[in-house]
Amino acid sequence: MNDSHKRRNIAEGVKKSWQDPEVKAARIKHDPVIVHEKGVFLDKYSSTWQAFKALGLSANKHQQFRKKLKTAGSLDYSEGSKVYEFKICDETSVHKQTLSLSDLPSNPDSRSLASWYEESERRVATLDRNELARRAAMASPVPHKIELAATTAYVRDPYVAAYAKILAKGDCDLCTKPAPFLTVNAEPYLESHHVTWLSRGGYDLIENVVALCPNCHRKMHSRDEEADREHLLYRISTRHQL
Ligand SMILES: [Zn+2]
Ligand SMILES: [Zn+2]
Repeated sequence: MNDSHKRRNIAEGVKKSWQDPEVKAARIKHDPVIVHEKGVFLDKYSSTWQAFKALGLSANKHQQFRKKLKTAGSLDYSEGSKVYEFKICDETSVHKQTLSLSDLPSNPDSRSLASWYEESERRVATLDRNELARRAAMASPVPHKIELAATTAYVRDPYVAAYAKILAKGDCDLCTKPAPFLTVNAEPYLESHHVTWLSRGGYDLIENVVALCPNCHRKMHSRDEEADREHLLYRISTRHQL
């Protein structure tokens, strides 16, 4: 068995094991802990006792410390010259923090897949770097493949899109910087964008369409900020049509 297979099997094994309610309950009761030393992640242990054993700490101190840790949630433990930061790792909440494939709708389309990614990104942002590294190492090397259901798409008028690009005169309507590169036809590369999205009932008319550089276009869809929208509407109201 090669490494990637092994890793995938481990990842799948871990995932499967969590589906067993008894195993899950037992693990939660054990209170897995994450231990840092001077801010550096050491490891995650299935229990305080396992951490004490692995770190070579005094066994007779573990019970009292475990009690205190349980109420505090996180607590320093010093022995000799070393200070260990213990943190109880609540697996139920950690598991809620990230989406898994099972959170995908049963018949996903490209839109529900996109919102699954967005929600994942939001939750992943709450994990610390070590936890992130740990999970990344467990990734399945072969991506999960799904069939997407048909999505509703809006067919944009190509003339409106092209006209907005002409009105932009080669500069992005938001940041006003020149297009990042020229197309093979030596045209400035800009993307047309609907200030009020078509999916929100916006019109496919030149009064609602601007030309943006790829960065600003991404920003409009990612941040969706009112101030940017107003800026673009102002730009539309002041640009000179041909
Ligand atoms: Zn821009
Ligand atoms: Zn757009």
